[in-house]
This record gives sequence, structure tokens and C-alpha cells, in this order.
Amino acid sequence: MAVSVHAQEPIHWDVVDQIMDEAFENSELMENASWLVDVFAPRNTKSPGYIAAAEWAAESLRSYGLSNARLEPYEFGVGYVNEYVSIHMMSPQYMPIIAYPATWSSGTDGKIQGPAVFMNFDEIVTEADLEPYRGQLNNAVIFTSPMRQLPPLYEAPATRYSTEQLNEMAEIPIGPQAARAERIHPREGKIPQQQVVEFVYDQGAAVLVRTDGRNDFGTVAVENTRYTLDNRLWDLNAPLRPAELVMATEHYNRVLRILEKDIPVEIEVDLRVTFNDENLNDYNVVAEIPGTDLAHEIVVFGAHLQSNPAGGGASDNAAGVVACMEVARIFKKLGLAPRRTVRIGLWGGHEMGVFGNKSHVANNFADPDTREYKEDYDNLSAYFNLDQGNGRIRGVPIQGNERLRAIFTEWMKPLRNIGMNHLFATGMEHEAYEDVGLPSFYFVQDRMDTRQYHSNMDAYDRLVAEDLMANTVILATFVYHAAMRDERLPRFVPAPW
Ligand SMILES: [Zn+2]
Repeated sequence: MAVSVHAQEPIHWDVVDQIMDEAFENSELMENASWLVDVFAPRNTKSPGYIAAAEWAAESLRSYGLSNARLEPYEFGVGYVNEYVSIHMMSPQYMPIIAYPATWSSGTDGKIQGPAVFMNFDEIVTEADLEPYRGQLNNAVIFTSPMRQLPPLYEAPATRYSTEQLNEMAEIPIGPQAARAERIHPREGKIPQQQVVEFVYDQGAAVLVRTDGRNDFGTVAVENTRYTLDNRLWDLNAPLRPAELVMATEHYNRVLRILEKDIPVEIEVDLRVTFNDENLNDYNVVAEIPGTDLAHEIVVFGAHLQSNPAGGGASDNAAGVVACMEVARIFKKLGLAPRRTVRIGLWGGHEMGVFGNKSHVANNFADPDTREYKEDYDNLSAYFNLDQGNGRIRGVPIQGNERLRAIFTEWMKPLRNIGMNHLFATGMEHEAYEDVGLPSFYFVQDRMDTRQYHSNMDAYDRLVAEDLMANTVILATFVYHAAMRDERLPRFVPAPW
């Protein structure tokens, strides 16, 4: 009889059963989601809504019985709040317009009424191309991008992975990771965009408007201001932050089609914003369940609490936050006593560059800039992250570390009937941890309706309670098993420095 030389990876079936009961029978996650998405949103960095959400989350974790629930400060920069936006087509007919400010847009100079002007920035090549607009732009609302064709939507916007698709994804061989996408500078051979932007404001323009380039039916995805050279708009001394609105494509196209008939269009716009520069700190929410015999070692799990400000940040990423909070609640409710310390992190400053996570990693594990290892570098077992929307978790990547395959295969056994049964050779790693060679895992989730992401319609109504409950069970099972096994999870990737 063959005898394995390795101890069997233990599965805590009884604990998973209890987690499953609590997660599905006594769930608090949809109520928590309503607080985050309905009451506190928008949760953009350092906004009053974000701070209120962070304080509420810390208080909730405290009430569950977690230790040391705290707001963890780190230096970020200037905060941004959209206080008010109102935009209307006044002539040739009246039409209320759906539009949202690009994040870190400036405001307009009060309520302004002026002409719509189509000025396709892509076709401004030389300074001579600016001349026809000189003297023409006072109070103008500048339409900067061409009309977008909107084809009919024949395919369902929300999909779940089929088993065949997951099997195919699981077989993708490990190869060199694709380089992170470079920011594209499409203006080669043209005068700089900044010069165009400065020209239109010198000429008295009120605001720049564009579409989001991907959505329709009144849905608008809103990212950071596009018409600036400085990508760090939150820096205290950031240069020009143009006033910039992202408009629903159907409304945008209507205005352009009227202009094509040489009929003037008048638009009224009032955009008010504030930049908060009194205190440059932003905050993560962190709390712990202290370990027992291995308390000095740590398992971290988390999700970003900050969200893009146009919508409620429901799928991105209240969905992840409430599942993480549920894991914490359930650990305490069931009286689980993990061997390692379990830490929950709800992170700030995410959409601008993962600042919350990076500060936590730099302060606790290793600083990629100074190349300094911190006390807990060797004590971290793993970081588990939820940030792929509101779909159900279907699998997790092993990041090329075959030793994890045997371990995770065992941990997934109790989760098969809730749809979690795939390991992928590679997948997304969390960049804050990856940058210092620490194991980190993004769970792979069903891709639900992508119109939600970063849009004005990322609302509570899109959350699917049963999926979030299943995600809670899966995350809790992984965190619990990581916290209980004899060894930390094996590391594979050497530190990159
Ligand atoms: Zn996200």
C-alpha cells in the first residue's frame, strides 16, 4: 500500500457547515450594502461620504467583537466632492441632460448659458487648427469627441462562466505575464492636448464634454479627468484641473446632429465642486481577530471601500466590502478561534492607484520604494482580495505555485455545491503585495453586467444577495483554513528586488 509522505491537508468540514448556515440564514450583508451604497455613497477618497462609511464600518467591526478596529491614516492628497451638477439643452428645444463631472474636474464659474461647439480634439493637429475657434468660445460648452454609433444590444449584458469556459481558463499555460498596459498618448505629431485645453479656456469656454466611449441607455461611466497632462490630480499643487463633464451618449449625439444642420444649440450648465486640502490624509479601515498559538502570523483579507463617485459603488466595490465584513462577523458570531491573527482591511484611495493597500503593505510588510523589509514580512501567510464585482466566486489562481494546487483543491471540496471549484494557473495578483513578492489572490468571479462598473448606475439594485452570501462562505473558508494550517501558505515568487 502506498503511503503519502505528506500529511493530508486538513478540511474543517464542520466549521464550513456552520459558516454556510450563518452566511445564508442570518446574513446582514444586504443591509450593510444599503448603508454603503444608499446612505454613504459617493465614497470617493476623503469625501464626507467616504469618511462616514469608514467610521461606520469601523464601528460595525467593533460591534462584531473585532479587536483594534481603527481608521489607519496615510498621506494621499486633496479630496474631491461634486456638490452639484445641472445641465440642460435650452434651445432649439428643452431637454434635461444626463451628465456627471469627471473626477477631479473643476466647477464652472456659476450657472452659465452658452453655445454648444463641436471641436473634435482628435482633429486639432496644428496651431492653425485652433484659429477658427478664436473669439467663438465665450461660455461655450465644448463637445470634444465625435459622435458614437450605438448598435443594438443583441447579447445578454450579464453572463456567468460555463464549466467549459472555466475549464478552458484553467488550462491556460503559465507564461510571461502580459506587461501592464501603458497609458496611450494618441497625440503624436499633434500639438499637445494641454495647449488645446488652455486655448479653449483662454477663449472663455465654460466646460468640456465628452461621452464615456462605452455605455448607452443613459448610463455613464465616469473616470478621472481626461483633459489634463497631470495624472495625479489629487496632488496639492496639481496644475490645471479642467471643468469636464461626461454625458450620456444619446444626449451627446442629439446635440451633434442638430449642430450638423447648422442650427445653434444653447446649453445651460452649473457645476460646483470642492477640493478638500485641509488634511492630506486618507484612511483605511483595519481590524483584527487575534490568533492563538500562531498569533504573530497574519492572514489578511479585504476589499476597497473607496469608489468612483458618479454612482453608488455597489458592484465596485461594496459587494466586496460587505462580503469581507460578513466574514469578520461570522468568525466572531461562531466564536472561531483562528491560530493565526486574521486581519480585515477596507481600503482607501483605490481607483487612483491602490494607495490604501500600498500604504498598508509598505508600513507592515515591505516598502518597495525604500526596499525595506518590515517586521511582519515573514509573518504574512497570504492576502485574499475581493474586487471583481458582484458576481459569484468561481475559482482562484495559484499564481504558478503548484504547491498551492494540492492545498486549495482540498479547501474547495466543501464549496463545490456553491459553484467554487476551479483553480487557474495564473491570474490577477494584488499589485501592492505582488510588488514586494508576497502571495496575494484575487478570486475569479462571474462577470455580471459590465455597464455597472464605475457608472452612475452602479446601484444597490444590481447586487445579487445569494451570490454575495456564497462569496462570504468561500472567502471565510479560505481565510479560516489559511489561519489554521500548520504552516503559512508556501511562497513561490521571490522578492523582485
Ligand atoms: Zn474595484
